[in-house]
Amino acid sequence: MNRKKIYLFMGPPGAGKGTISSMCVERFGWTTLSTGNLCRKHIVEGTDIGKKIDFIIKSGKLVSDELISAMIKEELEQAFNNFETVILDGFPRKSSQVDLFWNLISGLGLDAEVALVSFEVPNEVVLDRLLNRLTCSNKNCQAVYSVGCDSLLPKELDKCDKCKSPLARRGDDDRSAIENRLREYGESSKALVAAHSAKGTKVVRVDASCGVENVFDLFKELMAQK
Ligand code: ADP
Ligand code: AMP
Repeated sequence: MNRKKIYLFMGPPGAGKGTISSMCVERFGWTTLSTGNLCRKHIVEGTDIGKKIDFIIKSGKLVSDELISAMIKEELEQAFNNFETVILDGFPRKSSQVDLFWNLISGLGLDAEVALVSFEVPNEVVLDRLLNRLTCSNKNCQAVYSVGCDSLLPKELDKCDKCKSPLARRGDDDRSAIENRLREYGESSKALVAAHSAKGTKVVRVDASCGVENVFDLFKELMAQK
């Protein structure tokens, strides 16, 4: 089996992880697996998991490791069967999920080179981005746009460029849920990096506070130096 490449994207909500992931998919032919997208898909489909996590997500709290693990296993296997390079957006999210991640990787018998990419943006910038975010309501698309930035606007304000489904604000993109999510990130991110470092995973830090093309270029440069 070829050696796979895995980029683990971490960063506060609104840092641009999903946006940079989509650019990597379009420009490099990689694939991305977002546990947040997966959670929202379960909610829209009304699965047992979806029913359990609906309220947790709306309030900006984290879903249990057990449910995340149940959701991600098959998706991960499919991603690795079909792609050489996989971005995991938002997983592992806290230190206890680092062991979960490595157990999944060894369970799949994968030989993988793993890098942790930390997107760094001040809280006041992400707050503004999240309040301006529009997301495609199609559970299989979930493309992201911004009404706060000309280059990230959809062509038609209420429709997704890719699938033409209606765009909407995410239920957890209100001020109180955003505050919970930022607090949770602030409390867990140091321990998450430490848990990765303890496993020997290299951490690459990207200044994600500039324009999206600049962030993408920075990411590309840092990956080339690795
Ligand atoms: P995350 O996946 O980290 O939560 P998103 O990729 O969904 O973040 O981006 C959050 C919001 O900010 C979206 O509305 C997106 O269009 C916008 N955005 C992403 N990157 C940038 C950037 N570099 N500058 C300004 N807005 C951005
Ligand atoms: P995101 O789309 O990354 O902003 O995630 C949205 C929400 O999904 C988070 O606020 C959590 O409730 C949940 N979530 C996503 N990924 C994870 C994870 N790895 N562990 C726990 N909860 C998660």
